Amino acid sequence: MTEIAARIQQLKREKNALILAHVYTPPEIQDLADFVGDSLGLSRKSADASVPQDKIIFCGVYFMAETAALLSPQKKVFIPEPNAGCPMADMADADGVVKLKNMHPGAAVVTYVNSTAAVKAVSDICVTSANAVDIVRKLPQKKIIFVPDRSLGAYVAAQIPDKEIILWPGFCPTHHRILAEFLARVKAEHPQALVLAHPENNKNILDQADFIGSTGQMQKYAAASAAEEFIVASENNLLYRLRTDNPAKKFYPVTPLAVCPNMKKNTPEKLLNVLENETNLVSVDTAVADKARQAIQKMLELT
Ligand code: SF4
Repeated sequence: MTEIAARIQQLKREKNALILAHVYTPPEIQDLADFVGDSLGLSRKSADASVPQDKIIFCGVYFMAETAALLSPQKKVFIPEPNAGCPMADMADADGVVKLKNMHPGAAVVTYVNSTAAVKAVSDICVTSANAVDIVRKLPQKKIIFVPDRSLGAYVAAQIPDKEIILWPGFCPTHHRILAEFLARVKAEHPQALVLAHPENNKNILDQADFIGSTGQMQKYAAASAAEEFIVASENNLLYRLRTDNPAKKFYPVTPLAVCPNMKKNTPEKLLNVLENETNLVSVDTAVADKARQAIQKMLELT
């Protein structure tokens, strides 16, 4: 163990802090975390009242730490790098969503958790990529405004053709850098490999996938599958998790471009700094927090 890793482990115990990390964070961060997961898994962990720690250090991007703060108002939530944003979350604004809502009275606003607390607060319910199809199917409304990811929204619409889905024009730049021609090349190099894709991918990637799901669902699929080789059309740090958990199997990235620069801003040095100095506390305006929390809790109840 490196000196910095040992210091982080020691301080974590002394300060009664839980380290959570998203599967897109760099390997050295995943190795330091108490729990590594996708948005749904991390939301559940944040909301889990049986977790004894009273502090959460959230290694991910800002909206994720904000979600943890919403779900655990009695705990202090810190983020190693407060400027780790999500470009897709920043593509939607609360005023715009309210305007769209007014144009479609009676429609339910369904918001992907990859969004700001302010946007969640004007939404009827949140979803993750793991539960979006199930939740939209369960809603009584026939008309849905889906915010902010047009790719996930289009994927949901294709699964539930009897609902009208109005798409917000947001997207994940990292997943959209994974192009069909890159995938074709990797498939030609590894013809036996199954293709795992994420609903944030472009449709021409999803059309070539053997399995489509959230990162957590991809992990379960790869572990249970009899196949030994997989091409992963998602953020490349997910491959570290997949390789660590399945050492006998092979995982190939589609392109070195599939990296989320904001997730990369999480470093052991910044994690140590937060533990030492208790800086970068994440807080959400109370009026916004109550409404945003309701949208997330509705999701957890329906999941
Ligand atoms: S991978 Fe995409 S959606 Fe996820 S945090 Fe990065 S930019 Fe946002």
